[in-house]
Amino acid sequence: MTGKVFLIGAGPGDPELMTLKAARALACADVILIDELVSRGCLAHARSDARVIEVGKRGGCKSTPQAFIERLLVLYAKEKIVARLKGGDPFVFGRGAEELAALEAAGIEVEIIPGITAGIGVPAMLGIPVTHREVARGVTFVTAHTKDGAVPNWEALVAGGTTLVFYMGLKSLPRIVAGLLDAGMQAGMPACVIENGTLKTQRHSVTTLAQLSAAGFDGPALVVVGEVVRFARVQKRRLEKAA
Ligand code: SAH
Repeated sequence: MTGKVFLIGAGPGDPELMTLKAARALACADVILIDELVSRGCLAHARSDARVIEVGKRGGCKSTPQAFIERLLVLYAKEKIVARLKGGDPFVFGRGAEELAALEAAGIEVEIIPGITAGIGVPAMLGIPVTHREVARGVTFVTAHTKDGAVPNWEALVAGGTTLVFYMGLKSLPRIVAGLLDAGMQAGMPACVIENGTLKTQRHSVTTLAQLSAAGFDGPALVVVGEVVRFARVQKRRLEKAA
C-alpha cells in the first residue's frame, strides 16, 4: 500500500481558522472527502486536480452512511493520498475515532490533524471564554442528540457548575431548557445560541436560560449556558436587564 489518510479538523467555519498543518496536508492530497459543515473556502489549499467527494448531510437529512464513507476511505487510501476533512476537530462529536478504527483495521497509515472545535472557537470569537478563573472552572461539551436517544444527566450537569456547551442542540432546545431548570439551574443564568459561528452569516442571541429560543435559527448552532456568557461582546445591556 502506498497511500495514507490525513484525518483533518478544518476548524469551526472561517477557513482561516484551519491550521497550517491542515493546509499543507490538503495541498498534497489526491482525493478529498469533505463533510457538509466544512467551508468550501478550505479547498483553496487543495490541488486543482484533486478529486473532491462531498459526504455527509446535516442531522435529520439523508446522509452518506458512515460505513460507506469508511469503505471509500479504505478504497482510495490503498493507492492515494486522501484528506478526510471534517468540521471543527475530528474527535469532538465527529466520528473521527470510528474512521480511524476502520482505517487502522485495514492496515492504512493515518495522520491525525486536530482542529479548533466549534465549542471553543465559536464562543471565543464572540468574546466568551469557555473557562474563566472567577466564574467557570471547567467546561462540559454535551450533545443533545445521541445515537440511542439517551438524555443527558441534567442533575450532574447543573451540579458540576461548569460552562455547558451543547452541540446539535437547536432541535432539542426546549428539552435542554426544561432539563436544566428542573435540575435546579437559575432561570436567569446567562445563555446564548450562536449559529454559523465565525462565518459572515453568523447570528446569535444572548439571553438567559429561561428565555433561550431556537426561533429564527436553522443552521448549525451551539448553545452555551453559564456565567461566562456575560462576557459576550454584544447585547450586554439587554442581558443585564434580563438577569
Ligand atoms: N467536530 C465538530 C462538531 C460536529 S457536530 C467540531 O469539533 O466542532 C456538528 C455540530 O457542531 C453542529 O450541529 C453545531 O452544534 C456545532 N457547530 C459546528 N460548526 C458550527 C458553527 N460554525 N457555529 C455553530 N455551531 C457549530
